[in-house]
Amino acid sequence: MRPPAVMYTRLFGPARGRPAAPAPHATHGAPKPEMARLVMKFGGTSVADIEHIRNVARHVKREVGAGHEVAVVVSAMAGTTNRLVEWCREASLLHDEREYDAVVASGEQVTAGLLAIALQQMDVKARSWQGWQLPVKTSDAHGSARILDINGEELIRRFKACGEVAVIAGFQGVHPETGRVTTLGRGGSDTSAVAVAAAIRADRCDIYTDVDGVYTTDPRVVPRARRLAKIAFEEMLEMASLGAKVMQVRSIELGMVHQVRIFVRSSFDKPEDIDPHTSPPGTLICDEAEIMEQQVVTGIAFSKDEAQIAIRRVQDKPGVAASIFGPLAEANINVDMIVQNVSSDGATTDLTFTVPASEYERAKDTLDKARDRISYERLDGATDVAKISVIGIGMRSHAGVAADAFRALADRGINIRAITTSEIKFSLLIDAAFTELAVRTLHSLYGLDK
Ligand code: ADP
Ligand code: ASP
Ligand code: MG
Repeated sequence: MRPPAVMYTRLFGPARGRPAAPAPHATHGAPKPEMARLVMKFGGTSVADIEHIRNVARHVKREVGAGHEVAVVVSAMAGTTNRLVEWCREASLLHDEREYDAVVASGEQVTAGLLAIALQQMDVKARSWQGWQLPVKTSDAHGSARILDINGEELIRRFKACGEVAVIAGFQGVHPETGRVTTLGRGGSDTSAVAVAAAIRADRCDIYTDVDGVYTTDPRVVPRARRLAKIAFEEMLEMASLGAKVMQVRSIELGMVHQVRIFVRSSFDKPEDIDPHTSPPGTLICDEAEIMEQQVVTGIAFSKDEAQIAIRRVQDKPGVAASIFGPLAEANINVDMIVQNVSSDGATTDLTFTVPASEYERAKDTLDKARDRISYERLDGATDVAKISVIGIGMRSHAGVAADAFRALADRGINIRAITTSEIKFSLLIDAAFTELAVRTLHSLYGLDK
């Protein structure tokens, strides 16, 4: 038996297992198809216009027809969020972030309503939900709010009472104390989807997008990239935070904590060609223990949103690193790769590090203001740099993986400006012009080509 329909389902409540549900209709003698509770998330390109929205509705109808309980999470139509962000900038460079959220959250509201209409037109019971209606309670960090709690009770009640599909506007929530609309940061609909899946204890969270899964690297850059059948949460977390935009980082964190089975698949497959009871092509993001054949390297991510700052001829004495990185931390600037060398004069030191490109000017300004405390000769910077990262759980038990990369890049005349390593990844900073060449070189080196 399932838990009672009116049970209050808190996102961050204690984990509870859900007993298998009875099949919706008896099928004479044949094995009963498993009924499941699903979250289906559709990104911007999948809902780009009314024709695409109808296609999405047919995907949803297919699952409902198979007897599944369905909550859909939608993004804004392709290009919409960018346009809304741009309008805020045009209106004022220093805008009120609460009003920014009021503006940019509107994109998802439109798609949720349109999809509900398209479903109703196909005789599928559906209604739209905005973040504040559910509600999706978040922190008040406008523009990058964190989900605190989602009440899934009403959705479950409606699944039971009348089989109604919930069409939820992704990316948005509400801060309970102020009642203001919040948004979750770019790409945040992925996080909405995984959070809803946890809240309604869904059997699976399907992420429908414009690629049919997670690849060994961005398939738009390396056509020889291969689709992965499975990827571990830890690896996906690294891939996403190091530049693979196929999933928002926070969605993976949530999936890991709440053990949500996330399946990345294509929305461009013809809905009619898919049998809802068999597994379509795609990538399952799951626990490491579920992955039988573990490669040393699973994937390669890259990011051009990096900037490098070099502080030349700093006094080499205790406390100097604190005098540099203290002010940056106070200014909330994330510092990533750090390299320290002896300066050309042999007496002082050079400190080189990276910050997100969007923080470059602010970082330089912060260091300029702290110049008396740090005492350095010169500050150099570069924004034409890229970070290439090689990721794989298998690196835990294999030595020399990074050394192979250094040699392969050197053979192609690519200079490495900085290196960082951790247990399951290493990252290299190079000139941005060599990004594609470096990614392709490493992709072949680690045997990832098709
Ligand atoms: P959506 O609008 O559906 O949320 P996104 O544009 O946010 O879709 O993410 C999908 C895109 O992510 C793909 O089109 C692809 O170019 C890019 N991408 C980057 N790295 C990868 C990867 N390793 N595997 C698959 N896609 C990737
Ligand atoms: N529409 C939002 C964005 O473009 C959220 C999302 O698509 O996930 O960032
Ligand atoms: Mg996305």
